[in-house]
Amino acid sequence: MKIEIQGLNQIYPNGNHALKDINLEFGTGMFGLLGPNGAGKSSLMRILVTLMKPTSGVVLVEGQDIQKHRKELRSILGYLPQDFRFFTALKTWEFLDYSGSLAGLKNKRERIAEVDRLLDQVGLLEVRDRQANRLSGGMKRRLGIAQALIGNPRIIVVDEPTTGLDPDERIRFRNILSQLSQHDVTIILSTHIVGDISSTCQGMALLNKGELVFSGSPENLVKNAEGHVFKLTLSPYDYERVKEHYNIISTIPVESGWEVQIVSDTAPDFESISLIPNIEHAYVYFMEHKLHTELGE
Ligand code: ADP
Repeated sequence: MKIEIQGLNQIYPNGNHALKDINLEFGTGMFGLLGPNGAGKSSLMRILVTLMKPTSGVVLVEGQDIQKHRKELRSILGYLPQDFRFFTALKTWEFLDYSGSLAGLKNKRERIAEVDRLLDQVGLLEVRDRQANRLSGGMKRRLGIAQALIGNPRIIVVDEPTTGLDPDERIRFRNILSQLSQHDVTIILSTHIVGDISSTCQGMALLNKGELVFSGSPENLVKNAEGHVFKLTLSPYDYERVKEHYNIISTIPVESGWEVQIVSDTAPDFESISLIPNIEHAYVYFMEHKLHTELGE
C-alpha cells in the first residue's frame, strides 16, 4: 500500500506544535519511525489511524485521503496503541475472539480457527486459556499484536511496541514483525529504541521535536554518518578538553587515560581514527546535527 504524508502539522490546543510540516512517502514492507520521547511519533500514529484529525496536511493511502475514507481505511487497518490495555476477566483466546467479533469476523467457527492461528503465530497457543491480565509483559504485547492482526489488515500500525520489554522479548517481537513484513502488508513501527530499526525496515524516518530530520533507508542513514565518527585515545587532561568541544558517545578506560568515540562534522583537533559508523552512531549524528536530508528510496 502506498502511503503519502503531505504537509502534515499537528498543533494541540495548548499550543504544542507536535508535528511540523511532515512530508513522507512509503510503501509495502516495514517502515520504522524513530525518535526520542516527545518527538511526535504517537501524534503521527494517531493521525495515521484516523483517531485524530491533523491541524493541516493530508495522509493519502493509495491516493485516497484517509480523512474522507475513514471507514475504508479502518477496515484494512490493524493498530497496536502505545497504552494497550485488556479487559481483565477474559481468557487470552476469549480476548482475541472478542477482538475478532469487533473486526467483523461473524462466523464463530472460522473466528476461533483464526484466533488459534494467530495465537500460534505470536507464540501464545500454550497460554490460550490463561487470563489475559495474568500474562507476562512480553506476552501481553504479543497478544496486542495478535489483536492488531485479526481480520487480515493490509496496514499494521504499532506504536512503541517494545518499550519496557526485556531483550529476549524485544527480539521475539522484532522477529514476529519481520515475519509479517514478508507478506504483502505495510507495517509502521514507531520506537525510541535504535536497535528496533533493523535491516528489515525498507524505509525509516527520524523525528526530532516534531521535525523530520531524515527519511530513507537505514543503510542510507548510516552512510550519511560516514566520515563523522572518530576514535581517540586521550590523556585525562585532553579528555576534559574534548568533552567540552565534542559529542562523546562512548568512553572506555585504558592504561594511558580514556578511549573515546565522538561524533563530529569534521575531524577533531586531536589524533584520531575514523570509524565505520553503525546505526547508533548515525542516530546520534543526525539528532545532534539536525540535518534536513531527504534521500531517495
Ligand atoms: P512521542 O510519541 O514521540 O513521544 P508525542 O506525539 O506523544 O511524541 O508528543 C509530541 C509532543 O506533543 C510532545 O511535546 C507532547 O508533550 C505533545 N502532546 C502530545 N499529546 C498532546 C496533547 N493531547 N495535548 C497537548 N500536547 C500533546
